Amino acid sequence: MFELRQLPYDTNAFGDFLSAETFNYHHGKHHQTYVNNLNNLIKDTQFVGKELVDIIKTSNGGIFNNAAQVYNHDFYFDCITPNACEVKGDLKAALEKEFGSLDNFKAEFIKGATGVFGSGWFWLVYNTKNQKLEFVGTSNAATPITEDKIPLLVVDVWEHAYYVDHRNARPAYLEKFYTHINWDFVAKAYEWALKEGMGSVSFYANELHPIK
Ligand code: FE
Repeated sequence: MFELRQLPYDTNAFGDFLSAETFNYHHGKHHQTYVNNLNNLIKDTQFVGKELVDIIKTSNGGIFNNAAQVYNHDFYFDCITPNACEVKGDLKAALEKEFGSLDNFKAEFIKGATGVFGSGWFWLVYNTKNQKLEFVGTSNAATPITEDKIPLLVVDVWEHAYYVDHRNARPAYLEKFYTHINWDFVAKAYEWALKEGMGSVSFYANELHPIK
């Protein structure tokens, strides 16, 4: 049985970026529903007792959609922080090398995330095939881990992520999102991606969802 992860911060602490009401719905209802659906769908199947990432990589249809949405939301909620935080060290150097400058990275990130059509996600990933940092936009539940791309940062651009606080204004949500990125978490994901490759993705998911 999978359980809903806990959030590592006070949901009242995000100012005009996200309200506690948004977290109550987004984490307490949407994320919880993906967990519940996944548990119901895998009952009496070969997926019982399997690791979350294994399920994502070997399923399709409803099981894939709910398993991937559990992972995508787990990761999203770790990518934000109530406290301002700066990108530094090896990750900063890698972003400057790949995107020219941090300003350009930000501009391309916001442009890319604004351009995801309908419900989906916008990711910064480490591509294990060419060892490069790159952006990936995905629709609905799709997740880059099925393509052996390691998530470093993600923003949820489903309307349920921002409608309560920003109504239809996705770009306004993205500007605020950018000022609440947990760069320490992103840097750690990058460090582990370089060290452990795709194994780092399973390690992350298994820490949140120990197999019982
Ligand atoms: Fe969401």
